[in-house]
Amino acid sequence: MIFGGKKQVQVGPPWGMGPPVEMVATVPLQNMAQSLMIEARQHPGFGLARIFLADAIENRAERLMIDFSAQAIAFRYQIDSVWHNLGPLVPYPPPPKHKGPLPMGPPTREMGDMALWVLKKVANLKPEDRRSKQEGKFRTEYMGHKYHTTLVSQGTQTGERALVSFVPIIKGGGVRTLEELGMREKLREQLKGLIGPGTKGMVVLCAAPQDGLSSLWAGTLRSTDRLMRDFVSLQDQDQPEPDVENIEIIKLNLAEGETPDKRLPKILLRQPEVLLAPNVPNAETVDAYCKQANVDEPKLTIISTRGKDAVDGLLRVLAMGVDQELFVKTVTGVVYTRLIRKLCEVCREPIQPTPQLLQRLGIPQGRVTVLFREKPPPPPLPPGVPPPEPPKPKKGEPPPPPLICPACRGLGFKGRTALFEVLMIDDKIREALLNDPRPETIRQLARQAGNRTLQEEGILLMAMGGTSLTELQRVLKQ
Ligand SMILES: [Zn+2]
Repeated sequence: MIFGGKKQVQVGPPWGMGPPVEMVATVPLQNMAQSLMIEARQHPGFGLARIFLADAIENRAERLMIDFSAQAIAFRYQIDSVWHNLGPLVPYPPPPKHKGPLPMGPPTREMGDMALWVLKKVANLKPEDRRSKQEGKFRTEYMGHKYHTTLVSQGTQTGERALVSFVPIIKGGGVRTLEELGMREKLREQLKGLIGPGTKGMVVLCAAPQDGLSSLWAGTLRSTDRLMRDFVSLQDQDQPEPDVENIEIIKLNLAEGETPDKRLPKILLRQPEVLLAPNVPNAETVDAYCKQANVDEPKLTIISTRGKDAVDGLLRVLAMGVDQELFVKTVTGVVYTRLIRKLCEVCREPIQPTPQLLQRLGIPQGRVTVLFREKPPPPPLPPGVPPPEPPKPKKGEPPPPPLICPACRGLGFKGRTALFEVLMIDDKIREALLNDPRPETIRQLARQAGNRTLQEEGILLMAMGGTSLTELQRVLKQ
């Protein structure tokens, strides 16, 4: 019977279907993706999973961590590389005869379980397995942006930990120029001397893991003369770098031992003029590239590697077991980068530096009259307590500023820029690399030759109001 039956009222969970976050299963088979999504949508945790993802994205989190213990769950967001104890609020089932908006509070353990079930389902993992390490991917779309999303879950001593990572999908790869990355003009000019028209030798780019190496790589390639010379990059198929136009990319199966040096003889038949190897995997590649920088028509070669600063990156290449004399003769410069948070321009607070502080920072008296610091965060609220309403404006007065800055959500920082160190290799440094390759010796020679340290670069940024002393101290400690 279709008509006349008693009207069935479907009572769903108080969070309903949640905010309009699109989760898209990315398994290769269309049918399978569809059935995963149907199962996820029909689960009562679907709306909760959407609330979790939406809140993390609205807070500009790169990563969301959920720790499940016996009774509770704890949330953390990684925003601009710093972890914060932040998490979503969710609507609770209303008490009997409740009127008005639903009560809100932090998610309970049960709510967390339901949401994680859905996230695992969309990522094509086994929701019921709460012990093994599982990793899966899906796509998230929210507020006009798309994200490659990775879910990693693993049992812990107290329960389970889930880590969700968001990588924005940007059209054209989102490659920024060195200027956009924050490299000041003088350093860009220096770098041009290393990689500009007519250059040869070897340039090493380096950074700590997850600290901007791919951006430095792509930004550097953008500022080369790649329209005038033939560039070929030999790189691992499993570690893709952002696409830069007019650079031919040869993908290698590094896991199977296919290193750039093995492929090089064949590539050389095409007579490329510039050779590239991001995340250079072995000494043989460094040696083979260095040889190509010393032939009759010498080539420019650029490699990237890990390092804690420019000198460290240089010494690490040396320690790979390369032909030392050849490398030292060939290397012309090292560029190092480290990411640093930018002060929120809406709520940063001016401070008058004391003469002692300026002296400690090495800033000449009278050069800088104001520095900025981050607005201190508001005291943390007990779980479930909503933030206080701002005071009502008095008649004829402008409205008071909001208690929590809407631009940075009270963090005091918004977005990141980078500090750069450019180390030009001169003959004195070459000699030290062969005879006394200690980091202190090389650093001292670099300073004598006028290369600025990372700390000096940071102080310059601070003097321009770009960051604060506490942030610079945090970043320099890494
Ligand atoms: Zn702010």
